[in-house]
This record gives sequence, structure tokens and C-alpha cells, in this order.
Amino acid sequence: MKSRNIRILKFGGSSIGNLARIRCVAKIVTQAQSEAAPVVVVSAVGVTTNAILEAADLASRGDKGYVEPLSRIDEKHRGILEELASDEELAQLSRRLEDAIEELRELARGAQLLGECTPRIRDRMLAFGELQSAMLLAACLRSEGVAATDVDAREILRTDDRFGTAKVDQRVSRELIRERLPGSGGVPVVTGFIGSTASGETTTLGRGASDYTATLLGAMLGAEAVEIWTDVDGVLTADPRMVPDAIPIREIGYEELLELAQFGAKVMCPPAVEPARKAGIPLRIRSTLDPSLPGTLVLGTLPPDPYRPVRGISAIRDAALIRVEGVEAIGVTETCQRIF
Ligand code: ADP
Ligand code: ASP
Ligand code: MG
Repeated sequence: MKSRNIRILKFGGSSIGNLARIRCVAKIVTQAQSEAAPVVVVSAVGVTTNAILEAADLASRGDKGYVEPLSRIDEKHRGILEELASDEELAQLSRRLEDAIEELRELARGAQLLGECTPRIRDRMLAFGELQSAMLLAACLRSEGVAATDVDAREILRTDDRFGTAKVDQRVSRELIRERLPGSGGVPVVTGFIGSTASGETTTLGRGASDYTATLLGAMLGAEAVEIWTDVDGVLTADPRMVPDAIPIREIGYEELLELAQFGAKVMCPPAVEPARKAGIPLRIRSTLDPSLPGTLVLGTLPPDPYRPVRGISAIRDAALIRVEGVEAIGVTETCQRIF
């Protein structure tokens, strides 16, 4: 199905971290509509995922302090919703948000009573972030006159039950995705990062995996492009937090991007490269802070540039190198297995 120019637009947490940023994103989506049929993928608002993990961690130690990060999350989402929802929708959406917060509190309370937060419960808690951000962005689009519906990816991404790092069943998911998307409710705003098992249990795909949701959807829908919108001007020659004058790379190959990502360039979650590479879909990394910039285009293999042989540098912090040596190790079976 090489359907009507579908374009995937994925927005990371920093791009939708507050009301002003969500409004900017709504503008970008509206603009994209004139060129293609957008399918939007969102991460959780700002640092919501970290705050949920903080709550889960406190609860798992029996610490009642878990209520504090949850109150921060509640306040933040409520504040945004009240500002952006239309008068007609506010009551209904507020109820949805309240129910979701209530469920989050109950899950954390259960974990705190048990002094244990299993990966299964943690994934249920984490889904809150993307479910609410999708609801907020879809509401924002509607309030600006653009038909839009939030889509719960648990209905279209089937995974195994490895909670926290679930693996997507691509065959089943492809069917579900093609049945549901783009759909008739205007622009679909899909929750990144989450999926569900065959028995309906919530799973997450790994930290930063909204990028992966985006490229998977792109590959399965035969999209013309996948755009990863973030808070920097594209893939930079180095981590801007360590090298403030790093500059954007205009074009890069899939393999090179994968290498940079695997060795620390957080701008892209490593598993997200493969679905785009395999389907030959161009990826573009762009800045929500300045949408006029071209960003970075990721395509097949680029020929080496003799004047700039190094495309970029990445680094992994807090890594330790362990050296294991000794003649006794030679010939001992399963040495590597035992070390790891
Ligand atoms: P998002 O919320 O949009 O998913 P992330 O925080 O996951 O954003 O990734 C973007 C961040 O990645 C940037 O803010 C930047 O600090 C960091 N980063 C690390 N290395 C690079 C790099 N080589 N190029 C661009 N950004 C990088
Ligand atoms: N919200 C999730 C995380 O923080 C997924 C993502 O942002 O891509 O890891
Ligand atoms: Mg990210």
C-alpha cells in the first residue's frame, strides 16, 4: 500500500514539554498537512517518564514519597489541558485525565504496599505518559480546527511479554496498523513507546523507543518519509552537551547514524534505524525550535567525503573497561559466558 503520501512526524518529550511547545507542534502538523497525510507519533510530555520511574522506584522500596512525583505529573498535565482544550471538550477530557491519574496512583499504592514494583506494573504505569500526551496534542489540534484523534498504540502494536524491552511481532502488528491507520478521524496522534501482548497486557519497547514506533509505522504504512522532531538542529557532529559548538550534519547514511546512536548519540534510539533502512524510507531529524532549518537527512550509504572523513563523534559516559587476562583462561570452556 503506497498510499496517499503518508508522512510520519514524531515529536519527542522536549518538543511537547509545555503548552507553548505543544502549540508549536500543532502548527508543524497543520503545515505538514498541505504536503502529505501526517501520522503523528508522540513521546510523553517533558520528563514525565522519568517522574513515573522515580515514583515506581520509591514505591518499590515501600516509600510513600511516591505521591510527590505523581502530584507533579498531575499538576503539569492538568495545567496544559485546561489551557488548550476547547470549552466543549474540557469536561470530558478532564475526566479522562483524572481516571488515568487515579489508576497511576492506585498502581503505585499497590506497589508501595507490597514493597515491590514488577516490570509488568511499571509498564502499566509508564504508559500513562504517552497516553496523555497523545490526548493533549490531539485536543490541541482540534481546538485549532484540525480534525485529529489520539490512537492508543496498544491496539496496533502486538509485542511479546518482555516488559520494559518488549519485542514487536511485526506480522500481527502490520495487519493491525493497516486496518487502523490513517483511519477516518483526521490526523492520527499515536502513542509512541508502548504496545501490548496478545492477552492485552501493556508493554514498553525500551527507553527512547518512540523513535522506533515512528519508523515501524513508517515502514508498515509505506510512508514517503519519517521525520523525527526534537530539540536540536539535527544530528550534530558531537553531543552538544559536551561540545557546545557541534554543528548539524546535513546528510548521513543509515549505518553511520546507527553507529553514532549505538555509541551514545541520544538523538536517535538505535533500534529505530533498522525499519527505515530496510524499507529505504528517508529519515529526517528536525528541530521543533526552528522548523525552517533543513535538519539532517538520513539516506542509504553515502560516499566518503575526502575533505571530511569523520562524519561525527559520539561518546558513552560512565563506561568502564574491564580487562580479563591470564593464561589459565586459555582453553577453559565458556569463559566469555561466565565473565558476562
Ligand atoms: P527527544 O525528547 O526529542 O526524543 P532526546 O533527548 O531523546 O530528544 O534526544 C535529543 C538530545 O540528544 C539532544 O537534546 C542532545 O542533547 C542529545 N544528543 C547527544 N548526541 C547528539 C548528537 N550527536 N546530535 C544531536 N543530539 C545529540
Ligand atoms: N517517553 C519514553 C522515554 O522517555 C519514550 C520516548 O521518549 O521515546 O523513554
Ligand atoms: Mg529521544
